[in-house]
Amino acid sequence: MSTDTKERPDVTTDRSTDDDTPKFFHYVKKDKIAESAVMGTHVVALCGEVFPVTRSAKPGSPVCPDCKKIYDGLPKGD
Ligand SMILES: [Zn+2]
Repeated sequence: MSTDTKERPDVTTDRSTDDDTPKFFHYVKKDKIAESAVMGTHVVALCGEVFPVTRSAKPGSPVCPDCKKIYDGLPKGD
């Protein structure tokens, strides 16, 4: 019986331009972030957004509301 199914994802963001509106951060599983960073593969966020990881989350940036809603609704261990 697995105990690893409730792993919480980390936050990351999709590609953004540096000059304008900050993009939302999305919740993506940590192992997928690492894989994307190394392999250049795309990741799928909780909200369904698909993008390659190009940078880590920066403090103070907005979190994707859809991701946050799903994240907050994840089971905590029952
Ligand atoms: Zn999202």
